[in-house]
Amino acid sequence: MKTFTVEEVAQHNKPGDLWIIIDSNVYDISKFAQLHPGGVGVLTTKNIAGQDATQAFYGLHRQEVLHRPQYNRLQIGRIQGQEPVIVASASDVSSVPYAEPTWLSAGYYSPYYTESHKTFHKEVRKFFAEVVYPDAVRCEENGKRVSQDVVDKLCETNLLAMRLGKGKHLEGKTLMGGIIKPEEFDHFHELIINYELGRMGTRGYVDGLLAGNVIGLPPVINFGSPELKARIVPEVLSGKKFICLAITEAFAGSDVSGLQTTAERDGDYWVINGTKKWITNGMFADYFTVACRTDGGYTVILVPRCEEVETKAIKTAYSATAGTAYVTFDNVRVPVGNTLGKVGSGMQVILSNFNHERWMIICTALSAQRRIVEECLKWSNQRVAFGKPLNSQAVIRAKLASMIARVESAQNWLESITHQMNNMSYSEQSNKLAGPIALLKQYVTRTGRETAEDATQIFGGRGVTVSGMGKLIENFHRTSPYDAILGGAEDVMGDLGVRQAIRKMPQNARL
Ligand SMILES: Cc1cc2nc3c(=O)[nH]c(=O)nc-3n(C[C@H](O)[C@H](O)[C@H](O)COP(=O)(O)OP(=O)(O)OC[C@H]3O[C@@H](n4cnc5c(N)ncnc54)[C@H](O)[C@@H]3O)c2cc1C
Repeated sequence: MKTFTVEEVAQHNKPGDLWIIIDSNVYDISKFAQLHPGGVGVLTTKNIAGQDATQAFYGLHRQEVLHRPQYNRLQIGRIQGQEPVIVASASDVSSVPYAEPTWLSAGYYSPYYTESHKTFHKEVRKFFAEVVYPDAVRCEENGKRVSQDVVDKLCETNLLAMRLGKGKHLEGKTLMGGIIKPEEFDHFHELIINYELGRMGTRGYVDGLLAGNVIGLPPVINFGSPELKARIVPEVLSGKKFICLAITEAFAGSDVSGLQTTAERDGDYWVINGTKKWITNGMFADYFTVACRTDGGYTVILVPRCEEVETKAIKTAYSATAGTAYVTFDNVRVPVGNTLGKVGSGMQVILSNFNHERWMIICTALSAQRRIVEECLKWSNQRVAFGKPLNSQAVIRAKLASMIARVESAQNWLESITHQMNNMSYSEQSNKLAGPIALLKQYVTRTGRETAEDATQIFGGRGVTVSGMGKLIENFHRTSPYDAILGGAEDVMGDLGVRQAIRKMPQNARL
């Protein structure tokens, strides 16, 4: 690489012959200056033109801007004897305090994570940085569904299957190139996948990355006939087909029992009529795991996409990449072999996966929240106002203190619950963890919105701007209410947690 002295760079300080230094690297911006979105004038001022512009650059731009090919090629060399200090690699573990959970931070210990989790994490982070993140940024913006290339790679590594948790569906599969055996895979490995997913800061894409599979396929695995499972599960886990969970209706959300979609028997077929609302991945799903009202109760039925199934996009505040759909079933005929579980026992099928779904939402919502803490710690350190960094203001530090306390408390609670999940049978989990998971979901979504508010204040105008410095803050502020609604509304979660506790109160409990 060519090297220059600071004095040499300083010669190039006028329109048409304009160089700058950013973090020891020298850029020739003579031609680019005319195209600069912020105008040419700011680049030709005397403290920028031919000078070290690092401070000014990072006052306005994120590191990733420099890595874009069109800006990367403006670099013509480096300052003699200097090395860049602001090194960005998306795969690195951040050394910003509280940016990562303690188990990932150098010099801290954890009773839960082993070498297997650490090795696994390294690979998963690299995979997300190299394969998933570029697609996430693209799709979050253009609203298109996750690219098939990413789906194929998710299937090659079996990350898609791992997102369903541990279990039989992993048997015989090579996980992440073989770095972990299926029988070793536990809920902390799964937590790691969700952690990497949530921290990308692209909330619509978090659901777009086949959340429908994670909630729609377990009823097929756990309640489908052997024939149905043998046909559907491999198709979905190899990324050839997509599935979604269709329970909610316009008049049946928190109160699932109010659902009005009907399934009536006609010989060897069900005939299904009704509508479903807010169905994640519904826009591109090939299969719908549908909760129906049948004679004498509820029944869950797997409905393949056909002419009589119509899906319309619901415009919500997050990216259309999630594929959120309004679904209409108009005399859809489905073989009775597609029944999941017993006829009339649909409520048990519906409830069976709620804990896992809510736990997954907690994982991704919490990692998104932690990412916001990192953004705020960095920004308040680099943003200078009234002649000093923002973090020299006590009021800003008080906001940071609350943010940190929220993520750390939730993280510790989450890890404790995850440890219980690893050690309890399914029925023990249903009995003992439904309450704590509901309460933790309420806590994480409530605190998420408090953090979103604080972060928006810390970032000022940038906090409400879709691109640039505050883009993660804007995305989080706009989308953090989602986690407080889907998978069980926040108030309902709080109420469920306390009702479970009341039910377990010992009869002889007295003050
Ligand atoms: C983006 C998105 C994606 C979704 N994806 C899916 C999906 O893939 N599949 C699917 O089936 N559903 C999906 N849903 C639906 C979701 O599960 C419901 O929105 C949720 O259960 C709440 O139902 P509701 O919106 O009808 O709110 P309602 O049930 O009308 O509740 C509204 C509010 O009333 C209050 N409330 C209601 N009941 C109680 C109570 N008992 N105690 C205290 N307060 C109460 C709460 O504050 C609640 O937030 C999705 C929703 C969204 C927004």
